[in-house]
Amino acid sequence: MNAVDASEHYESSANEPAPSLLTIILDTNPRAWALLEDQLPFSKALANVLVFINAHLACNYTNEVAVIASHTQRATWLYPTHSQQTLSRRRDADGDIQMNGDEQHTTASSSTHANMYRPFRTVEEQVTENVRELLASTNAADVQSTTSTMMAGALTLALSHINRRSMTWAETHGAVNLDAAHAPTGSSAAAVSSSGNANMGLQSRILIISVSSSTDSAHQYIPIMNGIFACQRLHIPIDVCKLSGDAVFLQQAADATRGVYMALTEPQGLLQYLMMAFLPDQRSRKHLILPSRVDVDFRAACFCHRRVVNIGFVCSICLSIFCEPPENGDCLTCGTHLEVGDYGSRPAVIARKKKKKKARLNGSSVAGTPTPAGTPAP
Ligand SMILES: [Zn+2]
Ligand SMILES: [Zn+2]
Repeated sequence: MNAVDASEHYESSANEPAPSLLTIILDTNPRAWALLEDQLPFSKALANVLVFINAHLACNYTNEVAVIASHTQRATWLYPTHSQQTLSRRRDADGDIQMNGDEQHTTASSSTHANMYRPFRTVEEQVTENVRELLASTNAADVQSTTSTMMAGALTLALSHINRRSMTWAETHGAVNLDAAHAPTGSSAAAVSSSGNANMGLQSRILIISVSSSTDSAHQYIPIMNGIFACQRLHIPIDVCKLSGDAVFLQQAADATRGVYMALTEPQGLLQYLMMAFLPDQRSRKHLILPSRVDVDFRAACFCHRRVVNIGFVCSICLSIFCEPPENGDCLTCGTHLEVGDYGSRPAVIARKKKKKKARLNGSSVAGTPTPAGTPAP
């Protein structure tokens, strides 16, 4: 019977899995891309990312995508952009909106994209147009002034978009009680809500395609870490695809949120890496062996100079990190006066008291402090 009217097909579509929202943060720092020009030009990388986006949209017709550019001076939306911006772009010299859009633009796009699936076409047109505009608005002074990228701002934009989409999705489908999922509940209640989330809510994840060295972005340490902790709490994995340079904080982001971290040795194969490692969503990942990263760089940046430090001083009240004892012993963050003492001296070693041997009661041993086990692998 099913072969005739496909009745099973329609019944199963009622409880089909929830869509997944992929938010891509693309590092568009021109200086870093220029260094990578021989191996992977920016235009080719962008084309690869667009193919990857199409693959994500093709997995499920309700899947969504968002693209954010993390530029040198600002973080900006590449997709979706508001229709207002699109309209203002199409105005002619008199300020009138052309009814058929820019003539050259339409003829070029209609001939090449006439048979393209509409969501693919919308994403491609908006992303390429916005990238072109972003790069055209960047001048030499902007590029020379900094080598870092606005990762904290981009992460915040991604989080706010995910939050908005999740709330809209929950309102229209009534499937997930967001407040219950995010409220600080007991461990059992949290486990229930997170498993419920995994099956019914909007599945969101963030993919960061990074080229700039993030040691330079140590001044963004606190906002980046706040973004990471927010993702951790909301069960949003941060995947990191590192094309060049060194990413101290991004390794921690992927590690804390159980995302995938990959530093590409062959940037030419970007598309293959994206397809093989970053295309599966959270539901599929349960059944896959993911590329794991063992040596995570857990260094932090000091709050006083934003330097990445190996060993530092931690305020016992607010847990701020300093590379050297603060002046007069006053914490720069909370203002508490701290007794630093003579920190340079060797710590005194106190001999441990010998345990008195006691007769065991009924053969049960008196358990001492359990030996600390190693950190469980993720
Ligand atoms: Zn410092
Ligand atoms: Zn403090």
